[in-house]
Amino acid sequence: MKAMSLQAARIKDWIQSLLQTGSRVVAPVRVKEDTLFSTLETPEHLVLDERITLKSAKGVFFPQSEVVLEFEAGESRPEVKDIQGFAPQTILLGVRPCDVAAMNVLDSVFAWDYKDNFYLERRANTTIVSVGCLAPVDEFCFCTSVGLNPQTREGSDVFMLRQSDGSYLVEAVTEKGEALLKQTSKSLELSEAQPNADAEDIVPRRFDLNRVKPWLDEHFDDDFWKKMSLKCIGCGTCTFLCPTCHCFDLVDETRQGAGVRRKNWDSCQFSLFTLHASGHNPRKTQSERYRQRIMHKFKYYQEKFGKTLCVGCGRCVRSCPVGHSLLEYLTEIDRLSREAQPK
Ligand code: SF4
Ligand code: SF4
Repeated sequence: MKAMSLQAARIKDWIQSLLQTGSRVVAPVRVKEDTLFSTLETPEHLVLDERITLKSAKGVFFPQSEVVLEFEAGESRPEVKDIQGFAPQTILLGVRPCDVAAMNVLDSVFAWDYKDNFYLERRANTTIVSVGCLAPVDEFCFCTSVGLNPQTREGSDVFMLRQSDGSYLVEAVTEKGEALLKQTSKSLELSEAQPNADAEDIVPRRFDLNRVKPWLDEHFDDDFWKKMSLKCIGCGTCTFLCPTCHCFDLVDETRQGAGVRRKNWDSCQFSLFTLHASGHNPRKTQSERYRQRIMHKFKYYQEKFGKTLCVGCGRCVRSCPVGHSLLEYLTEIDRLSREAQPK
């Protein structure tokens, strides 16, 4: 399918046609001071291309808290009831390429040794409409430093790019995307414009990713971690906002013989995260916990799945309440690695 053009005056009509497909549309909407992914009720609520959402889109596939089964006391053992209807047909609209890339990264772990059907069925039932970036959202974006491109189509079903006259170039990337554009084609026209093939220079490179893992391989025990992490208060904001952090906890909530099993987000930055029942905690200091965050993202996940567990969205840096910056670690690791290189 050729690229289509969505004229500025037709955007609302097109969004309305998405709302009429019968699928739930989840998109960035303004909530007080922030922009968050939420179910879209009307085209007027959409914030398509202004800024990055406070939270990533991971909650669409992996909600912050969800019931994964229900149970009640039976004669000799509990009776278990599966959860139905958790994966409605969904159009996820207005996602940035870094957030789309994050889903590709998460697919590896959720489809690994245990297949997480809650995540996988939602993935299968979702059509992703992404919006490419024309400039970094702010100084915290570093997608190009982790091998991504601010206008990549990878992982999207439909890709949109704003043009200088306020219109959008709209391209189907997959068959699913093509079907969606056919279904909503009344507001679209064939476009003469050509997509920009090389947008990597839009976002400056901040560090050399190839230097990070080799340095981590050699510096598990290093004063670097203590020195760099003094500011961190272990609040977990970074992990909750991150599109690739995926730790969760399962808890049973019971009342009078019946109850539910819940899957709740957890965070490696919480001091209770690795606390054993014996009272022993293998990661008892915040520097050990933050080291774990970086090791997991730039070493362990690489070794296990061949992917970096960071897409450079900058949320953890942008929203840390004490200005503790992952980017500072990575640029410092790059500097130390260059310094150690024989001249
Ligand atoms: S890095 Fe910042 S956001 Fe993350 S746990 Fe530490 S203080 Fe909280
Ligand atoms: S670690 Fe920080 S920059 Fe990387 S994906 Fe997570 S929130 Fe974004």
